[in-house]
Amino acid sequence: MAFPLHPNEESSPTPSAGLLEIDLAAIRSNYRLLQARLGQTQCAGVVKADAYGLGASRVAPELHAEGCRHFFVAHFDEALALRPVLPDDSTLYVLNGLTRDAVGACAQAAVVPVLNSADHLAAWRAEAARLGRILPAVVQIDTGMSRLGLAPAEVRTLAQNARSFEGLDILFVMSHLACADEPARAANAEQLANFRAGHDVLASHSAFARARRCLANSSGIFLGRDYHFDMARPGAALYGINPLPGRPNPMRPVVRLHARVIQTRAIPRGVHVGYGYTFEAPAPVRVATLSVGYADGWLRSLGGRGTVYLDGHRLPILGRVSMDSISVDISSLPEGAVGTDARVELIGGHQSVDQVADAAGTIGYEILTSLGHRYRRIYSGEARA
Ligand SMILES: *Cc1c(COP(=O)(O)O)cnc(C)c1O
Repeated sequence: MAFPLHPNEESSPTPSAGLLEIDLAAIRSNYRLLQARLGQTQCAGVVKADAYGLGASRVAPELHAEGCRHFFVAHFDEALALRPVLPDDSTLYVLNGLTRDAVGACAQAAVVPVLNSADHLAAWRAEAARLGRILPAVVQIDTGMSRLGLAPAEVRTLAQNARSFEGLDILFVMSHLACADEPARAANAEQLANFRAGHDVLASHSAFARARRCLANSSGIFLGRDYHFDMARPGAALYGINPLPGRPNPMRPVVRLHARVIQTRAIPRGVHVGYGYTFEAPAPVRVATLSVGYADGWLRSLGGRGTVYLDGHRLPILGRVSMDSISVDISSLPEGAVGTDARVELIGGHQSVDQVADAAGTIGYEILTSLGHRYRRIYSGEARA
């Protein structure tokens, strides 16, 4: 099967922002680890936002090769783009649900919407009636985070009306945990109880005869069996992000990222570096300018705080992050040791995605999904290479 190439993927001959290496074997291994932890519970794959920036068209078939048959995206477009790269035994779900202009196309493409509101429900029911067919759906109930899904009162009202779900075959009742990465929070048990209660109100309805339950994201899987139900929906952990913040990461790292040295210089004491002159050399400093900037997901908040590594040496970022470059302090390396085009590690053996995120004041999710399309991408470890 030929996969669509990303911009700057393997074939690109042109110098780029850097090298983004994505280890597909590590993603498969992470899937296996989660599935093993889940036992009889199915492990779905969340591949929204282009598989958290890593390339959904490459990632989804790898998950399929490990037995994954349920794939979640955020938008209908994302589902349509993935349909051709996944075998027919896969089901694609749209977390954000239906938009008015996509109802017909969604039914035609056999994509399963997550019905989050009474409006979604009415639109999908109307489409089923128009087609004279039973349409599959997932119903999301809000269990506390007030983001998407039917409110408890709506659930009760809808459940009382025999026609509410007419023409629909509800595959799953789902909800989403707000604090799963903080196991000590009482919110987890509260959401769990709300989820059970909401499901029980709906379960008696004939449209729910086959309905199973789906609650946990990556961190939710590690909250224990009570949170597993029939299917879990991990994303982040598949991509190597730690589902247990503050504890050792059980997942295998997936991403390595390198930038290039564009230029080096030595500056005397009192000279500045970068926009705003926010760094002033307190002593003579040797500076290397690197080929990544905030347009490549090297977030502006890393200015003056982040670090990179060269041959195991820690190099602090000096001053602000520019759109296409950053400057780092190479004074700790022997003079002349850093040449133009030298490769500098941004994410890899010395620094994980989560550590970069910490330095930037954000989460690994935002780092990965911000990386963008200016890197040359190299995929390794394909299941069917
Ligand atoms: C993004 C998302 C997930 C995946 O969450 P991770 O924390 O990345 O595992 C699961 N369910 C819903 C509803 C989501 O929006």
